[in-house]
Amino acid sequence: MALDAHWFTEVMASTGTAFSLKARKLHEEQTPYQKIEIWDTETFGKLMTIDGCTMVSTRDNFLYHEMMSHPALNAHPHPKTVVIVGGGDCGTLREVLKHPEVQSATQVEIDERVTRLSEQYFPELCDKNDDPRATLFFGDGIQWMKDATPGSIDLIIIDSTDPVGPAEGLFGKKFYLDCIRALAPNGMLVQQSESPLLHLELIQEMHQAMRDAGFAQTHLLHFPQVIYPSGWWSGSIACKQAGALAARLDDAAIDALDAKFYNAETHRAAFALPTYVKKALAV
Ligand code: SAM
Repeated sequence: MALDAHWFTEVMASTGTAFSLKARKLHEEQTPYQKIEIWDTETFGKLMTIDGCTMVSTRDNFLYHEMMSHPALNAHPHPKTVVIVGGGDCGTLREVLKHPEVQSATQVEIDERVTRLSEQYFPELCDKNDDPRATLFFGDGIQWMKDATPGSIDLIIIDSTDPVGPAEGLFGKKFYLDCIRALAPNGMLVQQSESPLLHLELIQEMHQAMRDAGFAQTHLLHFPQVIYPSGWWSGSIACKQAGALAARLDDAAIDALDAKFYNAETHRAAFALPTYVKKALAV
């Protein structure tokens, strides 16, 4: 069926797939880094796209933001200092700040316009930006990590765009070496790692690069994400110390997060890997 003019379509030529939402464009701008567009969709609320790729929608962002933050925060024994690289829509920052044990959360976003447009079109994601524990820093996450004080961070969350353009350098051994140096001895990193169906090779390469950089263990977690290619997405956790992934799944604390997708069962389920993924990531 041909689509009329009132549809947003993301074509992923490399995988022969496409995703569409009935939508009308509200805003478009080219920043020094990328082209940002905001859409009003018929059934998914507002949608932000960057360089033609879906980033965040009102309807399904909770899946990604909760699963990029709560599993890692509940796997770390005492996450006090958190740094988010990218994440300019502020949805991950919002989830991180729901954890009372977090004392500081710094969001390092290269493109200030992503945050300003999120404040305008996704205000519900930005409702913790004024939290005294939050710092919004606008600059390149690669350089920021190079300059970070050694041993100063408990958890790094890499909430970036796909590994092209300004995000390309966030997916390699060089960057992971800087992250390891910046992490405290029992520190962890979690990074969005694309689709376990469409991008398994990339996930394998990421885990290899994380181990080559010196991380003792890597783990994959997976969750649904309707607006991303294949509708199935993943995060990769790298631990500086072996045996570090010890979940603190306290029911009362989880209830207090007021999450829509995350709970003790979905935490455990996220780390349960399909057979072919397990084989691909076996070391
Ligand atoms: N959830 C999304 C996904 O997986 O497609 C990511 C959303 S978030 C808006 C991604 C952000 O990463 C963008 O705002 C982009 O500007 C930022 N980014 C890309 N490269 C970066 C870098 N080198 N340093 C800091 N932020 C970066």
